[in-house]
Amino acid sequence: MRKPSKKALRERAAEVVRLLELRYPGSLCGLDYEHDYQLLIAVRLSAQCTDARVNQITPGLFAAYPTLQSLAEAELADLERIVHPCGFYRHKAKDIKESARLLLERHGGRVPDSMEALLALPGVGRKTANLLLGDLYGHSGCVVADTHCIRISGRLGLTDSDDPLKVETQLRALVDPDKSNDLCHRFVLFGREICKARGPQCGQCELRPLCPSAETAAGAAAGTGKKAAGKKTAGRKSAAKRDSAEPSGSERSVGEIPVGETAE
Ligand code: SF4
Repeated sequence: MRKPSKKALRERAAEVVRLLELRYPGSLCGLDYEHDYQLLIAVRLSAQCTDARVNQITPGLFAAYPTLQSLAEAELADLERIVHPCGFYRHKAKDIKESARLLLERHGGRVPDSMEALLALPGVGRKTANLLLGDLYGHSGCVVADTHCIRISGRLGLTDSDDPLKVETQLRALVDPDKSNDLCHRFVLFGREICKARGPQCGQCELRPLCPSAETAAGAAAGTGKKAAGKKTAGRKSAAKRDSAEPSGSERSVGEIPVGETAE
């Protein structure tokens, strides 16, 4: 099959944005927070964890440690106990404490508004940084290449890679910069409800007329994953690979995944 032109892909992306805006017109970020640093912490906790669970944990965390100073001075063991249900608790607790210290020391107690400064914080990668820049500061062109974004944009033929940086770059070239951050939030909602990793609901999907993966994704849902994986286009091969690699449940996986620790 001939690869669509850049113009055609831009038009497809614009239509995806339009249809998902209609489906999800309301508030988009699934994480609860009042202060900027609380969003940073909530996103950190969301790595390999659901937003719902993070939202159960953060009220108690922020009540016990109501300021950045108190978080910076917290006993690590106490933080670990509180964030334990979010998994990877040792890395997460350590990163939260160190981030609080660095925000106070380098940024006057605020979350910085540049990619470079954000990436210097522990546990912050491009996904987290893009989300913070988009949600806290309204930067345009932010693309949060999380698991839902990578899977759905691949199935839609907008991207042809599993690599988060490539997906971020490819989507940025196609989507209106003022819409890209919200689109990624909508991908999360859409990925949980319709375009699921396992079992996409193509029959109920308003994006189906635009979607080159509608049949193969539906086939995979019906237990013919091998057939989907056997298709020759890069995007579809990638989509099948993504599906098999995807964590189960409704994990958001926006936060960066800690290395060298098991979720206990
Ligand atoms: S048609 Fe199927 S694969 Fe395509 S976006 Fe909709 S649910 Fe996902």
